[in-house]
Amino acid sequence: MINFEYARATDVADAVRRKAADPDAKFIAGGTNLIDLMKFDVERPTRLIDITRLPLTQVEETADGGLRIGAMVPNTDLAYHPLIEQRYPMLSSAILAGASQQLRNMASTGGNLLQRTRCLYFYDVATPCNKRNPGSGCSAIDGHNRMHAILGASDACIATHPSDMCVALAALEAKVHVMGQSGERTIPMTDFHRLPGDKPETDTNLGPDEIITAIELPAQSFTKNYTYLKVRDRLSYAFALVSVAAALELDGDSIKDARLALGGVAHKPWRDTAAEGALKGQPANAETFSRAAETLLHDAKGYAHNTFKIDLARRAVIRGLTQAAQATPQSQSDKKIR
Ligand SMILES: Cc1cc2nc3c(=O)[nH]c(=O)nc-3n(C[C@H](O)[C@H](O)[C@H](O)COP(=O)(O)OP(=O)(O)OC[C@H]3O[C@@H](n4cnc5c(N)ncnc54)[C@H](O)[C@@H]3O)c2cc1C
Ligand code: SF4
Repeated sequence: MINFEYARATDVADAVRRKAADPDAKFIAGGTNLIDLMKFDVERPTRLIDITRLPLTQVEETADGGLRIGAMVPNTDLAYHPLIEQRYPMLSSAILAGASQQLRNMASTGGNLLQRTRCLYFYDVATPCNKRNPGSGCSAIDGHNRMHAILGASDACIATHPSDMCVALAALEAKVHVMGQSGERTIPMTDFHRLPGDKPETDTNLGPDEIITAIELPAQSFTKNYTYLKVRDRLSYAFALVSVAAALELDGDSIKDARLALGGVAHKPWRDTAAEGALKGQPANAETFSRAAETLLHDAKGYAHNTFKIDLARRAVIRGLTQAAQATPQSQSDKKIR
């Protein structure tokens, strides 16, 4: 463990000022990812800027019928918030599919967006990794790559983004509110995370001096025909091999509107508007769902150990859409545990 300084931000402007003054500083929220990365010697911040006391813990209604979620709202509080349970049940379901109750109690909304990949080589500082050490190579491409990407990968990195919550946020067309030295701006959730390209060390489009202040959800919330389906090696406490956020607006048997985003398959939550286009205006049946899955996976590419994920993703998309159409979302048994 390296030495680092610790400071507590007094307000958002103070947090931004402190971060801009020291490019090697890091914000710390719940610490559930950052502290692990520091213990593994992957992250070596010179200074931790504690943002846990910032007044970013509210879930508020917006003028246009949506919700604004403060960046410091804990994952547990968000999943069980009455307005989220009633109006955005797919988001609640996605959060509860992630991590464990104890971790969700600590983890923050902003931190969930910025959690880093679970690629084993990224955590193992004895191995080459372009994301951790740019230009050193990618150990996963010819190594153990069972959990890795099948969409949008590059020759520099085939890692996946591990979040469940972010997949639902991408499907729901959330926006990320951020604040930096040059003021506030809003980034659509689908543009927040990056594909690796030749800069895999950069996970997101957040500026180095910027802090996430809130997530905004639009009014449209898909309360009836939705599912968050997570396929993983164990029923709990495991990252997704493939996950599917599927939401439909039905007019009888016909699909009026559709949202489809996948987790565990790419460097970012993978929302596919072409696959959504293949659903809209079509009957909600197996043939339509299969066509949407083929569209979504048209350019999928597997590596030595993860080619099975292409077929798994195809089946998960069809099952997710079927569950959404039948209004039978995945079991939310986690909800019983508070
Ligand atoms: C064993 C284990 C299993 C897990 N399983 C899952 C899972 O299945 N699904 C899932 O989705 N997640 C899973 N997680 C990840 C967990 O959800 C994240 O660790 C958590 O959401 C991160 O939030 P945090 O507040 O603790 O972030 P921190 O660890 O405090 O910070 C993470 C990063 O975000 C930055 N940051 C934090 N807040 C802000 C902000 N407001 N603005 C700018 N930067 C910020 C920090 O500087 C840091 O770089 C798991 C974690 C563990 C340890
Ligand atoms: S996949 Fe990405 S994170 Fe994993 S070893 Fe390769 S460069 Fe590093």
